[in-house]
Amino acid sequence: MSETSVICHCGSGKKVEDCCEPFLSGKAFPETAEQLMRSRYSAYVTLNVAYILETTAPKFRKYYSPKSILEWAANSTWISLEIVSSEEKRVKFIATYLDDQQQLTRHKEDSKFEKSGGRWYFVDGKTFD
Ligand SMILES: [Zn+2]
Repeated sequence: MSETSVICHCGSGKKVEDCCEPFLSGKAFPETAEQLMRSRYSAYVTLNVAYILETTAPKFRKYYSPKSILEWAANSTWISLEIVSSEEKRVKFIATYLDDQQQLTRHKEDSKFEKSGGRWYFVDGKTFD
C-alpha cells in the first residue's frame, strides 16, 4: 500500500504502479524496447536480479552471473536514468550512479533489443561518448 504514491525509479515521472512495477512483478510485459530498458534500470535499483536475467536474450544469459549483477547493483547508488534516444530496437541512455568508491559515474550505453515470442529482450550494448 505504501507504494501507491512512489514515483518510478526510471525517471518517467509516473507512479511505479503505472510504469515499471507491473513488468518487474511479472503482471505485464513491456510493449516497447524503451519500456524494457526503463524497467531493467528499475530492476537494478530494486536489486531484482531475476528480472535482469529473464529480460536478457536467452542466448546471451550465460555471459551474466547473478552474483556479479547483484554485487554491482547493490554496491552502486542509483541516481538517475536519462533516455537519450529511443528507436524501435535501440535505446541510448545515460545511467548516473555513485560507484562503490562513491565516484559519480555516468554510464552511457547504446543498447540493442529484440522481440521474440511477443516479448522484448536486451541483446547487447556498447558504450558511447
Ligand atoms: Zn518506470
